[in-house]
Amino acid sequence: MSSNLENLYRQVIMDHHKNPRNKGVSNENGYHSVHMRNPSCGDDITISVKIVDGVIEDIMQEGIGCAISLSSASVMSEILQGKTLAEAKALTDNFYELVKGDDFDEDLEMDDAVVFAGVAQFPARIRCATLAWKAYENALEELELT
Ligand code: ZN
Repeated sequence: MSSNLENLYRQVIMDHHKNPRNKGVSNENGYHSVHMRNPSCGDDITISVKIVDGVIEDIMQEGIGCAISLSSASVMSEILQGKTLAEAKALTDNFYELVKGDDFDEDLEMDDAVVFAGVAQFPARIRCATLAWKAYENALEELELT
């Protein structure tokens, strides 16, 4: 990877870290919240999701931790917003391939999530990058939507 591209990736991650999208946790009716920690890094993230008729009507996130985990939560909330559960599953599975450095489907609209491809070089950080996405999957399990 060229250093220009690495710089761009770093900028995107820092932008989401400084200006997290969809920040917050909701206890309102229809929202389901899941809290997850990554003890090895100290990351601690809560997501709130509202699913209506198989569509993610709203997804929010909030947490403390490293720039990778927090920016990934922000990117996740942006990408999954408004998606059907099937679309969200395809995007989530694709994200896991991407962070592991495996082949991923470049035709899916991963938007800013592509910057996390660089995480594959740092296996210890993969849990940071996937924490919020796992929280989303746990929410589906708790809601019995899997
Ligand atoms: Zn971390």
